[in-house]
Parts: sequence; structure tokens; C-alpha cells
Amino acid sequence: MIHALAEEGVAVEATASDTDAFAEGPVKDWSSPEYVKRQIDLLQEGLTQVLFDDYSVVIKTEPGDPIWGNLAMHINVAINAARNAIARAEKSEALAAMRLSLEQKNQELEAAVEQLRRRNAELDAFVHTCSHDLRTPLVSMQGMVGLIMEEFGSNLEARGQHYLGRLQANVVHLEQLIADLQQVALAGRDGSPAQPADLDQIVRYVVNELSETSEARKITFEVGELLPVLAVGAHVEQVMRNLIGNAVKYLGDTPEPRIEIGSVRRDDVVECWVRDNGIGIDPAYHEKIFEMFQRLHDVPVEGTGIGLAIVKKVIEGAGGRVWVESALGQGATFRFTWPAV
Ligand code: ADP
Repeated sequence: MIHALAEEGVAVEATASDTDAFAEGPVKDWSSPEYVKRQIDLLQEGLTQVLFDDYSVVIKTEPGDPIWGNLAMHINVAINAARNAIARAEKSEALAAMRLSLEQKNQELEAAVEQLRRRNAELDAFVHTCSHDLRTPLVSMQGMVGLIMEEFGSNLEARGQHYLGRLQANVVHLEQLIADLQQVALAGRDGSPAQPADLDQIVRYVVNELSETSEARKITFEVGELLPVLAVGAHVEQVMRNLIGNAVKYLGDTPEPRIEIGSVRRDDVVECWVRDNGIGIDPAYHEKIFEMFQRLHDVPVEGTGIGLAIVKKVIEGAGGRVWVESALGQGATFRFTWPAV
């Protein structure tokens, strides 16, 4: 068996089993022209393969033949060197292509970040407009309506007073809508850095607070294991306050009101849930309820329909996901994910 080390440590070998071609024919005799011709033909055959870019060829040799063995070994080493050179060239070509596509991706990413920065600036301007420019005339309208009521109200007929009352109610409503819009726009955008947040402590605080309200007093709260998350504490509190607050609000007249809160680790996120056995939500509205100002139930509970829009915005802003599992009359389970610590 002949071994030769080609470039980059690739072992080249040609074994006696490869050499069937040598088994046939007369005993090797390098002085015989037929024998020499046959060897040269074999060599040519192998090299022709190389010529057609087939580098899998191994020039066969024969044990104990110093002339043929050495020649075959050198040719095999040369073939391997060529094979390695080609592989290297292909690799560096592929690397160059990858580098180029990486650079392109980087540029695209930078452009996207820049666009996001611009959008954020626009949003800031919008929020500013909401809180100042729209509010100022509204406050003045409210003042005027108040003055008209006060000074001329008694001179107006019942119909006039009714219209004025409606005008006032609408102004108040508009002010509330603007405040809600502002709240959603600002949700999760205070720029605080995320750090390990004690979900357990936050939930217990929110539950305690809610338990003090009369409607929550008769509810059984079951708080399971709550794993820490990587978050701005105030954001998690905002989410929990909305979800647990909703669970309380939409219990309906279920005989044994119960709210469960828990979490589980899934790879690099913590999945949390808030489950209630209340009035539930028709699956047709599972997406819709996360939109602004969407309210479903005709139940006499306070709300403006922005709580879940805020929840969604805050969670998605932190790289998580929120969804609901529910059916009408079957209670609801709100689930969300948050980066784990
Ligand atoms: P709000 O509670 O102020 O109406 P939300 O955005 O928090 O607004 O919720 C949107 C709607 O989703 C609610 O009006 C209610 O119809 C429905 N909803 C939210 N949470 C629950 C729940 N736990 N069970 C049943 N319905 C719910």
C-alpha cells in the first residue's frame, strides 16, 4: 500500500485492491514493451478523468513496484493539491459572496432602523399634537359650554338645554378619546432599559390592590409560580394590571369566580397566563379585542376599549406575543410571552 501526504494533510492512498488492472496480464516486466504500454494506457486513462475535472481519480499502483508506485504516488499528490486548490478557491468565492450579502443586509437593516427612528419622531410629534394642540381648543370649548349653561341655560327651552348637555357630553368624550390615544401612543415608550423584573412581586402587588375593590373581594385568586422576566418593571405592571383587571371586570355572575395566574419557561421566553372563569369571548373576536376602542360585551362595566391595545403594544414592543384562548361563556385565558432572564 502506498501512502502519501498531500497538501493540507489529505492522505492519498492507493491499495492493492484498487489495482485489478494489474492482476491480469503477464508478470510485470518493465523491459517488455507491451507491459510498459499497458501501464502508460492506464495512466492516460486516469489523467483524462482529471482533464475533465473529475478529481475523484486515484492512480492505481501495485505493491512492491518501485517505478510505478513512485510515479502513481506523485501523480496522486498532484491531483490532491489541485483538488484542494479548487476547494479553497470555491470557499473563498462563497465567502466573498456571503460577505457581500451580509453587507447588503446590514445596509438594509440600517435603513430600516433609520426609518423606524423617523417614524418614532413622527409619533412623538403626533403625541405632542394630541396633548397640546388638540386639547387647548377643547378645553376652551368646554369652558364656553359651561358659561352658556350657566348664563343662558335658564333662558333656554328644554330642547336647547338638552342639546347643550349633549354638546358638553361629547366634548368630555372627545377629551377622553384624546387622552386614550395619547396613552396608547406612549405605552412602552419611556426608553427605560429592560432588567430582571420580579413578576411574582408585581403580580402579588396588583392582585392585592385589586382585592381591595368590592367586586374583587369574593374572587379566589390562585397565583402559581411566576418566573422573573427581562423587562421594564412598570411595563409588566401595566400589562398585568390590565389583564387581571379585565379578568375581574368580565367575570359576570359566575357562581365561583376564580382567577389563575401562572407562568412557564419556554426556551428563551417566559410564557405567562391570566385565566378567568367569566363570560368568555367568541373566537370571532379574538383578534379584534386587541385593536383600539374595540369593546364587545354589553355589560355594565367601565372601560374605553384601549386596555388590550396597550397590552399588545407593550408586549410586542418588548419582543413578545399576546393572544387569547376563549369561547363565549367559557371563561378566558390571556397568554403572553416575555424574554426570560
Ligand atoms: P375595556 O375593558 O376598557 O373595554 P379592553 O381593551 O381591555 O377594553 O378590552 C376590550 C374588550 O375585550 C372588552 O370590552 C371586553 O369585551 C373584552 N375582554 C377583555 N378581557 C376580557 C375577559 N377577561 N373576558 C371577557 N372579555 C374580555
